[in-house]
Amino acid sequence: MARSFSQLSRGSGQSRPAAASAALSELQARALVERLPAIVYVSEAGIDAPWHYVSAQVEAILGYAPEEWLADSCLWARCIHPEDRERVFARELELEEPGAPEEYRMLHRDGRTVWVRDHAALLADELGRLRWHGVLSDITERKLAEAELQRRAAQQAAVAFLGRRALEGANLNELMEEAVREATRILDVESGAVLQVVSDVEGSVVLRAGAMSRGLHAGASAWARRVNASATAAERSELPTRKRSGGPRARLPVAPQLEMHEVISSVIEGQVGPWGVLCAQAKASRSHSPADLDFLQALANVLADEIQRRSAEEDIRYQALHDSLTGLPNRTLVLDHLEHARSRGGRQIAVLLLDLDHFKLVNDGFGHAAGDALLVEIAPRLSEALRPQDTIGRLGGDEFVVLLTEVADERVAVEVAERIVAALRRPFLLEGIEHFVTVSIGIAMAAGDRASPEALIRDADAALYRAKDRGRSRYEIFDRAMRVQTLERLSLENDLRRALDRGQLRVHYQPLVSLRDDSIESIEALVHWEHPQRGLVEPAKFIPVAEESGLIGPIGEWVLYEACRQACEWQDASPDAPPLGVSVNLSARQITQRDLPGMVARTLRDTALDPRCLCLEITESVLLDDSDAANKTLRALLSLGVGLVLDDFGTGYSSLAYLTRLPIDGLKIDRSFIEGLGSSARSTAIVTAIVRMAEALSIEVTAEGVETTRQIEELRRLGCLRAQGFHFARPLPAEEIAEVLRRPGPCSA
Ligand code: C2E
Ligand code: CA
Ligand code: CA
Repeated sequence: MARSFSQLSRGSGQSRPAAASAALSELQARALVERLPAIVYVSEAGIDAPWHYVSAQVEAILGYAPEEWLADSCLWARCIHPEDRERVFARELELEEPGAPEEYRMLHRDGRTVWVRDHAALLADELGRLRWHGVLSDITERKLAEAELQRRAAQQAAVAFLGRRALEGANLNELMEEAVREATRILDVESGAVLQVVSDVEGSVVLRAGAMSRGLHAGASAWARRVNASATAAERSELPTRKRSGGPRARLPVAPQLEMHEVISSVIEGQVGPWGVLCAQAKASRSHSPADLDFLQALANVLADEIQRRSAEEDIRYQALHDSLTGLPNRTLVLDHLEHARSRGGRQIAVLLLDLDHFKLVNDGFGHAAGDALLVEIAPRLSEALRPQDTIGRLGGDEFVVLLTEVADERVAVEVAERIVAALRRPFLLEGIEHFVTVSIGIAMAAGDRASPEALIRDADAALYRAKDRGRSRYEIFDRAMRVQTLERLSLENDLRRALDRGQLRVHYQPLVSLRDDSIESIEALVHWEHPQRGLVEPAKFIPVAEESGLIGPIGEWVLYEACRQACEWQDASPDAPPLGVSVNLSARQITQRDLPGMVARTLRDTALDPRCLCLEITESVLLDDSDAANKTLRALLSLGVGLVLDDFGTGYSSLAYLTRLPIDGLKIDRSFIEGLGSSARSTAIVTAIVRMAEALSIEVTAEGVETTRQIEELRRLGCLRAQGFHFARPLPAEEIAEVLRRPGPCSA
């Protein structure tokens, strides 16, 4: 069987120059052949024809010793990769010299695939028999590199494709499905999936299938459950914490019921932490190259970018429509819901507008953080009182709104309001301190298709206004009368705008009397409005309108000037009497006006009134506003030398703390307590307490609304020696006060 190499070389020597072949000894030729990185062979033509020569490299390349190889004429055919056999045998049978070397796969003795390049020529030997003279080189490395390059190109194309789909605006589900499809196709595995981390609590990850390749669909949920159940704690915690690059890859448990043996996965990063994983599963155990893992990660990154972009967009949308503190829908979104409810038609819609009573107390007394914490706690309480389909929104500050749809009748809305009141009645625990909250509610209703969102809110606001007006901690339902009232308010505001220019405002004066001798100590200025149609309008009617519209600024300035000017006139009229003081009311709104102290100083200068003769009356709500600006204004006013008096004391929050905060000169006990003085034990007790407290703080007390001698006797008994009221004089125009002042003897009506 074995032929000598010289015989062979003679056979192939035909085409060579004789001199060259003659130069090679057989020994030299053999040495050269055995150094070739290839198998050199001579065989007969035919699939199981004998081989006559094979060089020693057959052992290194295919795992067989040359002797073994030559002994078994079928070995070559058997070693050809089954998938390539047909092609290679066809050539063999044709017995025609191929134009180009052939490339095919063979199986190494150990089962591994070896790519070979078979370059052979059919040459006749000395007997004229045709023999294959060939060289089999191992091109496995090149082939693998080529395949790798191809796969890389395909991977890049797949990633680019997915990116393009994202840019085109494919929806996320489509995108996830395409990612799975591309991953399985390119990695050539049986199935793939996108799994979303639904929750990640204490190391336990719950996954939800976002997309699954077809084969997985049937067992998908079972598998996802399996993933959750079978992942060890370590695997679970490894999954969501892995960063996008570097570090170990997330490992998912394989799914035995689906016969998946190899799973690779890449984390899809969300905006905060991992959003999920993209994974590919193979039935056969196989190794993936780092490039494969990079490819999977690149697909996952396209998904991640898309998910992050979408969630950023959602964030922006969310922020535009929600209140940042409580996360509740804001005004815009509530109006939107209202509009939707309306477009659906159906039964009635109810809007409940809620305003926390005295919320400022919490803010001022416990700080804004506590105030915020309280506001955050409100929403869950409200939800308790509502059905899931009802909307809760925050309009700003301590104002909330509840939207009820499909309301049968008014009673439903009232029931809800009562449930809300009850739900808020339980104390709120903030930093260990119990807070009690009451709420005022305004309710407005309309038939589904007829409710204009803005009109509903406006009507509910009118009802809320009424609820607050009637003492808070209650609800009111908007009715037609309120609409009339609202319109009237609007027309009043219109008229009031012109009142100052047209000289319709008048200052009336009411004396403050000493109970020692009934002499007049000072005079309070009270603005009145001589309306051309309505007649004399009381301040209680229009001051709130002036406050809300901002008209209180110019009106207040005018009253102050008028009162100071008038006081000087009276002082000049009786130069021998002790200088008469004048009190002017300031509303909270005026305190927040910039340059109030400047305005007061200017007025004092312009009218030449001694600052000590001017007393400014403020309400407790001004002191409640513990803002820097308010404090600064009050201190600036005090530094002008004017007096500060707390008006309507007892109706607000009546806290000693407020009195000690600023050097207040006096307080006026509200008329409501004076009314019951001597007849109501409660009123008497309150007045007694206030007088004691004022004495202790060396603050002067004035009783308001004194109408009877009995009240005067009680006041004297309690030691309150200053009073004001109809008993002495009603508020009167300046001319009439001048008369009262001129009258000798005690002041009386
Ligand atoms: P106020 O400062 O508490 O003024 C006393 C109110 O009680 C006056 O009502 C007065 O007419 C009334 N009154 C006085 N004595 C008696 C009495 O014996 N019995 C009864 N039933 N009432 C009595 P008026 O003039 O309607 O003023 C109402 C409120 O309007 C004032 O309450 C004050 O808060 C506000 N106001 C009046 N003028 C001005 C002003 O120029 N600027 C500001 N910001 N507010 C003003
Ligand atoms: Ca007053
Ligand atoms: Ca008062």
